[in-house]
Amino acid sequence: METIFHKIIKKEISAKILFEDDDVIAFEDIEAVAPVHYLVVPKTDLESLGSATSNDVEILGKVMLACKRVAEIKGLIETGFRVVLNSGEGAGQSVFQLHAHVIGGREFKWPPG
Ligand code: 5GP
Repeated sequence: METIFHKIIKKEISAKILFEDDDVIAFEDIEAVAPVHYLVVPKTDLESLGSATSNDVEILGKVMLACKRVAEIKGLIETGFRVVLNSGEGAGQSVFQLHAHVIGGREFKWPPG
């Protein structure tokens, strides 16, 4: 099913893109919850982590390394950053194309709310 993130990938709607390659795109979250808040989205259709299979190993690895790249570009490697991946409505997923949130630039609490 096409989501708003597919439209961003296809450049049908605009976003503040930090980087992209053939496999992933990283852009700023429209409702940032921290001074740094980016979304990393694979360009292949993948609804959620809960629907991933062993066929998705490579793209999931690329998503994780793209999260690290966001942190590097934003200078968060030393200070720390959080990667959040909501899977399913019950966990707060609202856009059903897998995406990782990369959040930083403020203090974090544990456990998350
Ligand atoms: P979820 O709740 O699915 O884990 O995260 C979805 C995220 O997408 C939310 O943090 C929300 O602010 C963000 N978002 C929803 N629509 C748009 C949009 O059109 N552009 C951007 N840049 N972010 C969006």
